[in-house]
Amino acid sequence: MRVPRDKRFSPSQLNTFVQCPRKYSFQYVERVPIERKPSPHLVFGSAIHAALDAVYALPPDQRTLAVAEDAMREAWKADKERKGAFESLEDERAWGLKGLALLARIAETDDFKQATPRALEDWASVMVEGDRELFGKVDRVDDHAEGGGVVVIDYKTGKCRIAEDGLGDELQAQVYALAVQASMKTAVREVRFVFLEAETERIWEPTELDEIEAELLRLIDKIAATTEFAPATSRLCGWCDYLDLCPAGLAEVG
Ligand code: SF4
Repeated sequence: MRVPRDKRFSPSQLNTFVQCPRKYSFQYVERVPIERKPSPHLVFGSAIHAALDAVYALPPDQRTLAVAEDAMREAWKADKERKGAFESLEDERAWGLKGLALLARIAETDDFKQATPRALEDWASVMVEGDRELFGKVDRVDDHAEGGGVVVIDYKTGKCRIAEDGLGDELQAQVYALAVQASMKTAVREVRFVFLEAETERIWEPTELDEIEAELLRLIDKIAATTEFAPATSRLCGWCDYLDLCPAGLAEVG
């Protein structure tokens, strides 16, 4: 049975409420249509994800840099957000070259040559308290090297802003751990956010998932009980898609 829209929660939805309830209302309650400004970061990130998805779908001995490059180029060309995302052709070329250089570096890693993922770009979900659903699309799931469960991997093309031991506090990591455990019916031994450009990663070995589920449920209940979605201004208002509709945000930005 399909879960109603107001009872389904993705990590970005939860994060939006935590960041600013007013923004949450614009986006998920009122569903105000907006014209999202195209962004080079999004085109770049989508193309790199597509390249890694294509290459890791192959057996290790068939993975080559050329396959990854072709997949990146194809995704780049097909991206509807591409138009208007770049300042000029030179700007777009520079981003493209950055992507190719990143893939060249990844192609040299042992992971590229040896990993055998169990799932790629897969939806995972978990029902909480019977009728609410937490869900997310997971980049990759590997069997843990020592067995007895899996490793959930999420690729990031942006900067790493998570403290060394902070991944367990991230709502995205928490939802992924619960959702993959429920969907794949196996223990999640590690969640790993791989920051490709920064060449660093954050790793969390989830324990006490029952407690985490209870915390997420409290957040969901809070969202459901909210009738006044108050603005929470911050430096992020400057990047908010709803800024023009938000007097508090406009005052913050000045
Ligand atoms: S502009 Fe700022 S306060 Fe207004 S909705 Fe966006 S994030 Fe919230």
